[in-house]
Amino acid sequence: MTRPSGITDAAPSGLDLLVDGRLETLREAGLEREIPRVEPLPPLGRMGAKVGGREAVVFCSNDYLGLSTHPEVREAAARAAAGRAGSGASRLVTGDSEIHRELEERIRDFKGVEAVLLFNSGYHANLGAISTLAGRDTEIFSDRLNHASIVDACVLSRARVRRYPNRDVDALEGLLKKSASRKKLIVTDGVFSMDGTVAPLTEVAELARRYGAALYVDDAHGSGVLGENGRGTLEHLGVEDNDIIQMGTLGKAFGSFGAFVAGPRRVIDLLVSRARPFIFTTALPPSVCAAASKAVEVASSDPTLRKRCLANAERVRRGLNKMGLDTLGSATQIIPVLTGDPVETMSLTEKLLDRGVFIQGIRPPTVPEGTSRLRITVSTAHTDEDIGSALAKLADCTGRTR
Ligand SMILES: *Cc1c(COP(=O)(O)O)cnc(C)c1O
Repeated sequence: MTRPSGITDAAPSGLDLLVDGRLETLREAGLEREIPRVEPLPPLGRMGAKVGGREAVVFCSNDYLGLSTHPEVREAAARAAAGRAGSGASRLVTGDSEIHRELEERIRDFKGVEAVLLFNSGYHANLGAISTLAGRDTEIFSDRLNHASIVDACVLSRARVRRYPNRDVDALEGLLKKSASRKKLIVTDGVFSMDGTVAPLTEVAELARRYGAALYVDDAHGSGVLGENGRGTLEHLGVEDNDIIQMGTLGKAFGSFGAFVAGPRRVIDLLVSRARPFIFTTALPPSVCAAASKAVEVASSDPTLRKRCLANAERVRRGLNKMGLDTLGSATQIIPVLTGDPVETMSLTEKLLDRGVFIQGIRPPTVPEGTSRLRITVSTAHTDEDIGSALAKLADCTGRTR
């Protein structure tokens, strides 16, 4: 290829300018990411997989209730897929079907809300809902540890964003007090995805009422797991307020894919007309909706599933704390083990994998600088042996005694 005259061979190409050096920098900082080769192993319903050629029990899946392999859930997906594999268009054109509506109604009844709208993922749901609710004239109050999709949604909304220290209700109140904006939106994770801690929603909801702010809760990790009926973090904390808007994903506890926004009818009506990540994308495939619908039915009719998940998590957490490992205040099925250094974290992940336990290491920018960690997620599908053996190997690899 010849270059236009006047440009020497030494000049970097347009692509070089955008890419060159950055991969190098990531590599040097131990921050380059690689997709692990994961192949699920039989038997179905166990957390076994071959990871990078090594057989391991997986302790970093968000399939909290083991529903991704539940026989009725898989059967529902297969039955729906016998019709059409894809939905063919957005919901507002021809992508809608009875299966989509049934799923929305089932989630509505399960969550005990007025209305529900499906999105193609939790990422889409946060982008769509937050950027629709908030605009240039809005001030958003966002917890510092909120999920990346919330951070991106805030940018997309063009609203003024105030970040408050994680779970710090006094700091939040300070910001609300100072605010001169008429339109205010508080956004928080229900369960913080990298810490496994629970947001102080009782206090946050009270502040929202007192200062005339709307409240949006991303309950990606609470939905299906926490609360008397598995409705999520609000139920867990006994917070009742029909104006609160909730997001939940169908790809975690519900073992399928997709997500939803649940709340007042008028919010859902506005999203249908204005949320670009809902309007300008193809509707979820019917098979995915059918699986999710069955999963919601199974999860809400069998409370033992979530109870076992949380009991398993309690056992793991107690074991780790007995070894003197810092689990950062985790109170849910997400249990971090603080390691600090990113390179050390990834080498710990490798060591554990060599011994048959897969726990992914989490590094910046997913977590703040200096707080790299192993992020353990516990599932109903883990057996007592899985847990005992994982704890023994964690003790071994971290040089602790049990
Ligand atoms: C996983 C997650 C999301 C995104 O959900 P997906 O359905 O996986 O796109 C959003 N928020 C939080 C807190 C999450 O953990």
